[in-house]
Amino acid sequence: MASRGNGCGKTQIPPFGLRKFSTLAEHPLLNELRAALGQNAVKSGADDMAPYVADWRGRYRGAAVCVVEPCNVQGVSAAVRLVASHGGRVVPQGGNTGLVGGAVPSSEPAAFEVVLSLRRLNRVLDVDALDNVLVVEAGVILKNAQEAARDAGRLFPISLAAEGSAQIGGVVSTNAGGINVLRYGNTRDLVLGLEVVLADGSIWNGLKRLRKDNTGYDLKQLFIGAEGTLGIVTAAAFRLYPLSQAQTTAFLAVPGPHAAIQLLRHLQSEVGDCLSAFELIERACVDLVLESNPATQSPLNSSSPWYVLAEISTPMKGLAIGTMVEESLATAFELGLVTDATLAQNENQRAMLWRIREEISEAERRNGPSVKHDISVPVSRIPDFLAEAPATVLAVACGARPLAFGHVGDGNIHFNVLAPEEASEAISAVVYDLAVKLGGSISAEHGIGLSKVGLLPRYKDELSLSLMRAIRAALDPACMFNPGKLLATGVKEADETLG
Ligand SMILES: Cc1cc2nc3c(=O)[nH]c(=O)nc-3n(C[C@H](O)[C@H](O)[C@H](O)COP(=O)(O)OP(=O)(O)OC[C@H]3O[C@@H](n4cnc5c(N)ncnc54)[C@H](O)[C@@H]3O)c2cc1C
Repeated sequence: MASRGNGCGKTQIPPFGLRKFSTLAEHPLLNELRAALGQNAVKSGADDMAPYVADWRGRYRGAAVCVVEPCNVQGVSAAVRLVASHGGRVVPQGGNTGLVGGAVPSSEPAAFEVVLSLRRLNRVLDVDALDNVLVVEAGVILKNAQEAARDAGRLFPISLAAEGSAQIGGVVSTNAGGINVLRYGNTRDLVLGLEVVLADGSIWNGLKRLRKDNTGYDLKQLFIGAEGTLGIVTAAAFRLYPLSQAQTTAFLAVPGPHAAIQLLRHLQSEVGDCLSAFELIERACVDLVLESNPATQSPLNSSSPWYVLAEISTPMKGLAIGTMVEESLATAFELGLVTDATLAQNENQRAMLWRIREEISEAERRNGPSVKHDISVPVSRIPDFLAEAPATVLAVACGARPLAFGHVGDGNIHFNVLAPEEASEAISAVVYDLAVKLGGSISAEHGIGLSKVGLLPRYKDELSLSLMRAIRAALDPACMFNPGKLLATGVKEADETLG
């Protein structure tokens, strides 16, 4: 491919003329943005900008000229054009819950970056139960999108622990996964159409609702998972599903990961795609949640090294799903795949079981620094990964506390290690090497952002990287959008190390 020099090298970025102004606050861009978008749509004071320039985990903190919050797609387009006219760059931001530093501006003093928050594009544009389609603006909070679908008697299946803050634009731009991927697929599988503001400010209207459209390249797919490097997503259309009529949630003790995988296949052959979630959780994660949150309680009296949280649901009325699950689990007990179990009897109990899973990240955060890995391997290799990874980590970081949990039905393990920051490089190197050795990926869900940008060339083949650079150069030749994220754009980013 011809794209080694991708048009994103620092020498090709137009000058922004900062030197003419003694402070950024005096830069004419600020007044131009205020005139175009309204006084309140531009924040430039340090306190006002603070929540936008640091990431959720507090690992990345940058500096922005200002934060702009347009309230419609025309405003986004106008902001992009104005920032471009001064040679600046735009960092799109949704709920800022991303875990790889992708939504925060650069900390380089010479960077001239504007954070563009989609927060105010928060309208549900349509919920069509006949077409089974939900159309929402990018700033709609994921939970609100779910509720809008539910109000119309439909299921919008994307669900993750950050759903109270994550926004649709961020979900699309990270191709978010979550707990229902096993049955409904990733965000990529659910998007029917997108509206996107491009680097020249033009508005691409790909907000179709079609399930079939063979008229050439599927352009929307380029923007899904692009981490804000190709365009700014301003609205999205999603496919919807029938609401569940009945569901059973089970918290199961299993002897180990190998038994968990066999249990997964057993349940799938017994209940088919009624199995919508299958999460593997190591005992140490449950302990951490119980220790750090007194409002939680252990779902089982017995202790086990591993647990599975499984959810089985059906849109079919009258299907005796509870009986089906009980019979399947009885066989699983006989096969030695399950050693103890509890089934939620009502919505409250279901919420309590899910709380254990959903609070793991927060419990980790309260326990000091942790080195997070969001890897995937073929499902059959999960037991190999989990057998080797802890010892491999302890060999390079004595005293570290590995914790494993994840969407194991998708081959996705969050393998996080409580350890001091200094150990992160050595720990990540052995974890990623192991995942890749087993045919896996260094990022199953969270993406590359800033935290893994220097690692991508080590784990992704050169031809794939060249194709990615060619796409970037075609859509955003001046590297306007989210520079330094996903693809290294200069010497500093290319040198970013592990972590
Ligand atoms: C407790 C917790 C649990 C999580 N669980 C999961 C999980 O199970 N599965 C999962 O996949 N992720 C998970 N995440 C990660 C995160 O919530 C998701 O990646 C989410 O999709 C990010 O949405 P956001 O609106 O916060 O995006 P942000 O963090 O604001 O942005 C993420 C990236 O998308 C870009 N971006 C944001 N909005 C736009 C836009 N409109 N147009 C173009 N680019 C844009 C940003 O520049 C950045 O690169 C979790 C995070 C937390 C804190």
